Amino acid sequence: MANFSSLSRRRFMATASMATGAVLLKSCAINPPSPTDLSPKAEAMTLSPSTTPEITTAKLGYIAIAESAPLIIAVEKGFFARHGMTNVDVSKQASWGAARDNIEIGSAGGGIDGGQWQMPMPHLISEGIITKGNRKIPMVLLAQLSTHGNGIAIAGHHEGKGFGIDLAKSGAADYIKELAQAGTPFKAAYTFPKVNQDFWIRYWLGASGVDPNKDLNLIAVPAAQTVANMRTGSMDGFSTGDPWPYRIVKDRRKIGFMAMLTAQMWENHPEEYLAMRKDWMERHPIATKALLKAVMEAQQWCDDPKNREELVSILAQRKYFNVPKDFLVGPYSGNYIMGDGKPNTNDPALAIKYWKDGRGSVSYPYKSHDLWFLTESVRWGFLPQGVLSEADRIINSVSGEKYWREAAQELGIASADIPPTTSRGIEKFFDGIEFNPENPKAYLDSLRIKSIKA
Ligand code: CA
Repeated sequence: MANFSSLSRRRFMATASMATGAVLLKSCAINPPSPTDLSPKAEAMTLSPSTTPEITTAKLGYIAIAESAPLIIAVEKGFFARHGMTNVDVSKQASWGAARDNIEIGSAGGGIDGGQWQMPMPHLISEGIITKGNRKIPMVLLAQLSTHGNGIAIAGHHEGKGFGIDLAKSGAADYIKELAQAGTPFKAAYTFPKVNQDFWIRYWLGASGVDPNKDLNLIAVPAAQTVANMRTGSMDGFSTGDPWPYRIVKDRRKIGFMAMLTAQMWENHPEEYLAMRKDWMERHPIATKALLKAVMEAQQWCDDPKNREELVSILAQRKYFNVPKDFLVGPYSGNYIMGDGKPNTNDPALAIKYWKDGRGSVSYPYKSHDLWFLTESVRWGFLPQGVLSEADRIINSVSGEKYWREAAQELGIASADIPPTTSRGIEKFFDGIEFNPENPKAYLDSLRIKSIKA
């Protein structure tokens, strides 16, 4: 783990264990202590005028998938409070559409000030592309929350058809096309149109020559409804965050199996982000950095193997993910039961990561990743081609990378863990395709399946 210094950890363990002694005694009388009871919260920082936030509250939306863990942990383990944000409310959103609606009205209107987002939702909201009346609501990306931790699940009645990472080699690509020709097209879901989960299923299909616009039906379904839809047979597959795909496999009714993990398609791929309304940040610049510092500490806490058991205990609770703990243990250790004759995975590198991954920083919001999301939006005709000539303006207006750097310095993050540039460089996909952020057009030219609009 990077620089969540062992010194401060020891210090807060020592002081807080004294402070929680009485609480433990009380809770022992009712329940045996669980790991959640045993680990103390982070101790409060001594705040100076320049680090005392303007307010102590913020309302952050989250979706009950593994990407949201740093927000939940920042509340549960006291990281927000440690930086003076003592009344942060993490608010479960029923769907991504609800999160979008709630950011439009802001906390003053009963909504939210920011939270967890798929990409490029903050850009689309800032540009007024997915808001009511095309109202522009400027947003700022402060950090990436996680990488990996997403997958595609397929309904059980498609077993034996070759649904793995490479659909061309296995014959599953032809099978999907035959279903379309027979008038019974394969029906697959993502959780919100034109963002991550839509991109992951489209990339996977397109890499094997399946045209997602012609060869099957893609629809938006909130993650919470996907299990029921798969069970009743109204859906053949879906793309979303853990633990939803894994739930399908673990369900005793044998609903389905995993086709692939996003970690297999694009190692260390960008996933979901923390973003806030810009007007909230402008009113509360110190609180903004306090939130960011707390999330960065929570990300380090989440990635520490010795905290994973407690992390699972916290997230599994009814008020958060409301799932049995063992639905989370596998994904958090890179042990996925894939099903349909595929070998199970047993590789911690495939697990969700919050702070560091095989390419360095997870938390830092690379502008080169924003550019991939905009380029992929052009690939599928979600945004017109002309967007690429405006990409610098759009990305710079939404990027909060300078806040991230300031927060990292204030936290004393080792310079080796602070990326030197805003680009992560060339990205490689499982099918041999490369995305060079210096030349997005070359990437688009290299893709077989696309529907670019002028
Ligand atoms: Ca996701």
